[in-house]
Formats: sequence, C-alpha cells, structure tokens
Amino acid sequence: MNLLIVGGVAGGASAAARARRLSEEAHIVLFERGPDVSFANCGLPYYVGGEIAEREKLLVTTPERLRSRFNLDVRTRSSVEAIDRSAKTVRVRDLASGREYEEPYDKLILATGAAPFRPAIGGIDLPGVFTLRNLQDTDAIKECVDRGVKQAVLLGGGFICLELAENFVRRSIATTVVEKNGQILTPFDNEMTTPIVQELADKGVTLLLGQSAEALEQTADGLVVCLNSGQRLPAQLVVLGVGVRPENKLAVDAGLEVGPRGGIRVNEHLQTGDPDIYAVGDAIEVKDVVSGGQTQVPLAGPANRQGRIAADNVFGRGVRYRGTQGTAIVGVFDKTAAMTGISEKALRRGNQPFCKVYVHPTHHAGYFPAPEAMTLKLLFDPTTGQILGAQAVGGAGVDKRIDVLAVAIQAGMTVFDLEEMELAYAPQYGSAKDPINMAGFVAGGLLRGDHPQVDIESVLAAPAAERPLLLDVRTPQEFAPGHIPGAVNIPVDDLRPRLGELPRDRQIAAYCQVGQRGYLATRILLQAGFSAANVGGGYTTYKLFQPSK
Ligand code: FAD
Repeated sequence: MNLLIVGGVAGGASAAARARRLSEEAHIVLFERGPDVSFANCGLPYYVGGEIAEREKLLVTTPERLRSRFNLDVRTRSSVEAIDRSAKTVRVRDLASGREYEEPYDKLILATGAAPFRPAIGGIDLPGVFTLRNLQDTDAIKECVDRGVKQAVLLGGGFICLELAENFVRRSIATTVVEKNGQILTPFDNEMTTPIVQELADKGVTLLLGQSAEALEQTADGLVVCLNSGQRLPAQLVVLGVGVRPENKLAVDAGLEVGPRGGIRVNEHLQTGDPDIYAVGDAIEVKDVVSGGQTQVPLAGPANRQGRIAADNVFGRGVRYRGTQGTAIVGVFDKTAAMTGISEKALRRGNQPFCKVYVHPTHHAGYFPAPEAMTLKLLFDPTTGQILGAQAVGGAGVDKRIDVLAVAIQAGMTVFDLEEMELAYAPQYGSAKDPINMAGFVAGGLLRGDHPQVDIESVLAAPAAERPLLLDVRTPQEFAPGHIPGAVNIPVDDLRPRLGELPRDRQIAAYCQVGQRGYLATRILLQAGFSAANVGGGYTTYKLFQPSK
C-alpha cells in the first residue's frame, strides 16, 4: 500500500502516525510544504508573548522522530502541486531544488488545512503586516516585537487576535483590536462576549467594534491603518486575523466537490467523491452535530480526530466521523469563554424553536476562599429538553462545565439529565449543586411550568405600553447603585405583606441579581393570583445586554 498524506501538521501527522500503527507494511509518505511538521499552532501566540519561552517546545515532534519512530517517509519543503486521479499519482515540487516529480498512490489523504484570508486592501503586503499560521510567521512577528514595537493593530476580533492582544500587552505594546462586526468572538452570542470586552478594556486593549481597515499606509514611523470611520491608527506591527479559507486548490483542480464556503465535501468516512482520496481538518466541510447541516469548523481537536479516522478507514476499519459540534475555548487575560453546540443566533437564523436559561454561579462553593464568578447559558429544545448548545464565560471552571455539556450534547442528553448529573464535589472544586445541575434545575423547572420566564431582551424591546411591570426583589442596598430603568423595588422578604401595592391587571416581571430570588418571588405572585414571570438570569443577565447602562 502506497499511502500519501498531504499536509504534515494536525490532521496529516495524526493520520500518518495512526496509519503506521495499523500497518507496518505500508509505504507512508508525508508531504509538508513548510520546514516543520506537527508543530503546535495553538501555542504560537504564547511564544510571541514569552509565556512559552523555548521555540523547541512548539515542535510537538520533528521529521527525524517521525522517521525513526514511525518509519514514515517525511518530505518537508515539498509542495504537492496536482493530483492525477486516473493515473493515481501526485505531482510534487521539491521547494529546495525546484525539482518536480510524480509519486504514485493507492490511497491519498488531504490534510492541507486553511490559509489566513487576506482582504484585498491597499498596503496589505507592506513590511510589518503579518498573518499567523506557522512557525515562520511567528518568528517574523516575534522578531518585530523584539525590535521594540510600541503600537500594534490587530485586524479581527476572533480567537487568534484576542490571544495575540493578551501577548502583545504582556510585551508592553499598546494594542488596538479592530473588528468589522458589532461583536468579538462571532461564534458566541453577543451578550456572552460582554465580560471579555470588559476584560480587554480593563487590561488596556483598545477595541474598535463595527470598523474595518480600508488601507494600510507606510509612514516614516512604520504604518498607519486607515479605517472606514476615517480614523487613522499608527502602528509598527499589524496582524490580520480576519478568518481562514480552506486550502482546497488541489481538490478543486482534481474535480473533487467542495461546499459553498470552499470546504472539501466528504462522506461520514471522510472520503471525498473519489473513494481513494480522503480529506480531513480545516480543509473540509463537516456535518454539524446539532443542526445536521454542513459547516466548517477550523479547530485542532476535530482535525486530529479526523486524521485518525481517515487512517482507520484507509485500512478498512469503516469508522464513522460523527460530525463537529464546535466545542471551543479561549483565554483572554484572566477570563475564559467557551462554547459547545449551536448558538442562539444560529438557532434564530435557522428558525429553530429553542428555550434558553442563564445561571450565574461561582466556580466552587461560595463559602470557600476565592470563588470566581461565571455565566452559563444553556440552549435547549422547548419540547423535549434536549440540549442544543451552551456557552460560558468567567474565571476558573468555565472549561470543565463546557466539557461536561459537550459530552451531554454528544450523548443526546436533556436538561432533565443535567438535574440528575452526579459530578465530583469538594468545596475547592465545585458545589454540591454544581453549575451544571443548577442550569438543569432552572431549565427543567421552566419546561415543567414551575416558573414562567421572560427574556430581558423581549422586555426591553416591547413598546412602553405593553411592557410588564419590572419588580426588583433585591434589597434596597442592591437596588440603589443600579437597577433596570422603570423598576419598582420590593425586596422578596417583604413581598407577601406588600402584595396590595402591585397591579392585578398587568404582567409582572420579577428579577433579582441572578434569578433565584426572582424565582421565589414569581412563585409567591403566581400563587397569589398575579400574572408573573421571572426575568431569566436577573440583573446580571441584564448587564450582559446593557453593559453601559
Ligand atoms: P494545518 O494544521 O494548518 O496543517 C496543514 C498543513 O498542510 C500546513 O502546514 C500546510 O503547509 C500544508 N499544506 C497545505 N497544502 C499543501 C500542499 N499542497 N503540499 C504540501 N503541504 C501542504 N485550534 C484549537 O482547537 N484550539 C486552539 O487554541 C487553536 N489555536 C490556534 C492558534 C493559531 C495561531 C492558529 C494558526 C490556529 C489555531 N487553532 C486552534 C486551529 C488549529 O491549529 C487548526 O484547526 C488545525 O491545525 C487544523 O489542522 P489541519 O491539519 O487541518 O491543518
């Protein structure tokens, strides 16, 4: 068996190592255009910032080690230029010598990844303007930073640019992030990014939302980024992080099908339309586990798993790739944001019915020192309670809650399962009622009809005459420094004797700080014959939507 693999990083190197474990006989060639294989893309920003001090640590393995341990024929600086499907060969260009040659295959795996998108704006190729994909890009950015950059502009508010922002600040660089959309981290729902926006501001990063670069110009001091608003940002370093595009040229030229956004089409065995050609990683289109539609998710976990599955299938194991659910996490200074499954905005786009709840627990027992706050948003089916998506933002413990919910989605669990979930607990790690259980209780209660809930966005969007009466059931001390405009304050402990102050001909939307006292108030009001609902997630959720009010 001649197995050729194009691309030697996440998907390609995983496929090659797995293939060797399955067959000692196969001739396995790993072609990589760059000088390195299997490097740690995800660690690159942290090498620029100095948290990863040694460059060698970014090399997960080397061509030499792949040769000696796995007996792989690793050919770096080798670009695969074309596939001849009828002859079953690829044309390879040795980038060092310029020599071109044909290499025959029985099976071919494409793991070509995705390339940073370069918008067609003036000055994009000026010195000092970079993209970040590999170690060579990292070296160039780091060299620039080491020379003493004072101002940097990051174009794009996605994962990579925010990680770079943190690392530039660590290197004492005045950093501006410019994001064309009205929000950063666009896979998330907008309100869930509020704590990250706040964190960037707290750490001195300037964030310009709803703006984009129209041109880059060279000046005596470096560069100027010209924005559509007319603003001109001086910088000595600019990094473009405005998305990636699948490297699909080989596939397209060979007549293999790609999707509307360029991802190579594969079946559940990761086979392209040609049964002898597989494709994995950032280059492909995958099934969205939750929506069932097609999507592209450029993440390391799926690429690694797909590499392994493609190799399994090359050797006849018939393994299915279940699809991708977009489980992702990003650290921005002292905050973490993570998500899994579908977002609210994607559900709305697809006109898919859903319910949502917000809980704002601490990551471990409140009585134990140093509890850190988090917000957890859960999206679920209004009929069955099946979990559709989850997002969390906060400090410690965000990662483990999203990982638990990622597994719950894989297992097809419902919010009622979350109520029953038995998770490890001691006060320094969690709570006897873990945030996962709490989200389950709130969601389960909602579906059982125990407490009607109203979303703060709908309350705020309603015309004044149709708005429910906003009843703040927190203490006067909590009410005074900040409350939802128009709210009246009756603390929950005083509510029973003061019910006479409330109207019976108008809906009442009760809220507290996080939703718990609002729930109790709603139960009191409902049993007293009022029309009432709890504002989901209380004042803390309101502040996610209205951070500046
Ligand atoms: P790649 O890892 O990009 O590898 C493709 C390789 O194919 C490239 O090295 C390319 O040179 C080679 N190639 C392409 N065409 C040819 C050809 N014709 N001939 C020869 N070689 C070719 N994901 C996460 O999940 N978490 C993170 O924290 C995270 N952080 C990231 C940080 C950065 C800075 C970057 C750039 C990415 C990050 N990612 C992260 C994304 C993750 O690295 C990718 O999803 C993953 O590497 C995709 O694997 P892949 O094998 O499909 O492609």
